[in-house]
Amino acid sequence: MGEPLPAWSHGELDIHHVNTGRGDALFFVFPDGTTLLKDASGKTVEQAPFSLPTRPDDSRPPGEWVARYVGRLLPPGAEGIDYALVSHFHGDHMGAIVADSPLTTSGGGYRLSGFTQVAELLPIARFIDRGWPDYDYPAPIRNPTVDNYRRFLDWQVRHRDLQVERFEPGRNDQIRLLRDPAAYPQFELRNLYANGSVWTGVGSETRALFPPIEGLAPDERPTENKLSTAFRISYGRFDYFSGGDLSSIDETIASHPAPWLDVEPPVARASGPVDVMKANHHGSWDANGVPFLATLRPRVIVVTSRADGHPSVNTYRRMTSERIWPGERDIFITNVSPATASTTYGIGSASSTQGHVVVRVERGGARYRVYVLDDDNEDMRVRAVFGPYASR
Ligand SMILES: [Zn+2]
Repeated sequence: MGEPLPAWSHGELDIHHVNTGRGDALFFVFPDGTTLLKDASGKTVEQAPFSLPTRPDDSRPPGEWVARYVGRLLPPGAEGIDYALVSHFHGDHMGAIVADSPLTTSGGGYRLSGFTQVAELLPIARFIDRGWPDYDYPAPIRNPTVDNYRRFLDWQVRHRDLQVERFEPGRNDQIRLLRDPAAYPQFELRNLYANGSVWTGVGSETRALFPPIEGLAPDERPTENKLSTAFRISYGRFDYFSGGDLSSIDETIASHPAPWLDVEPPVARASGPVDVMKANHHGSWDANGVPFLATLRPRVIVVTSRADGHPSVNTYRRMTSERIWPGERDIFITNVSPATASTTYGIGSASSTQGHVVVRVERGGARYRVYVLDDDNEDMRVRAVFGPYASR
């Protein structure tokens, strides 16, 4: 305890849930050293009521904290990040742009927050998102954050040889080992879902959850959260699920409840049981429903919180209920506010309520540990270690 996190070594799979307090930032180091940054945090104070303080402190914006965190962990020989994946187009995942967001020094004319801020400090070879190249599903996506992101992509494609792709559900070769795939045939990242399209479990086939968008009333249409990209990583017996801000109960309480908006259960069925999952939508009240949890049956849950109510009282009760799925489970929360601590009953049973949460899977995938790191400085000191857990 108190020592820095031991360095990653070849054969290990590291999954870092970085706590900036301002949104999701997940950094993966695959067994051969290939790297993936899924989301880059970046909600700003002005835009986020009930939000949590920036960690370690307010002296830098969240995207810069993420870049520095990642920079300390790049495997030997790596010059930058191999893959960036945008879970969906919200500011707490990609970096919100406001009037005083700083301009890039690259000459590209875009502003810096979240991903664009990370890219200012570390090269990123390839972006994958749910919208490229048209950004028009289910309707044209226009707002300052997405407009800025597209300016960034266009400029980087022309001047930095950036590769950009649309996330394709069903594939297991879109995000893959780039350095030494032959050494780790038991590793796979399977794209499960995005944009209402879910993997069938057969080959790379998908099926559509939503009827044609044109025929739907406004309250029957999916919101941005329900379009989030989801994937499963398998490494030997180990499985991990990450699904952005997917939800079950319709946030809008539609007057005509549309069953297809209950996207979590079919995505969970596409995944099957996992050892570790990132809770959907920061553990909010509308996510991590009963059928979803009953299918995933996680041994470890990581909640990436960024506001009061993360996790909410009802969602925490579901996550701890052995009537939904039997057996032990450990819950790690990156950040719990005083308001959440006093309203989410029973949260004292969580294994951790503050700090970066790192899942480290042993070579071959048979066992894993969970490290909780201090988030009030950049020393990467280990506050507690849990496990080893046996992969199932
Ligand atoms: Zn979010």
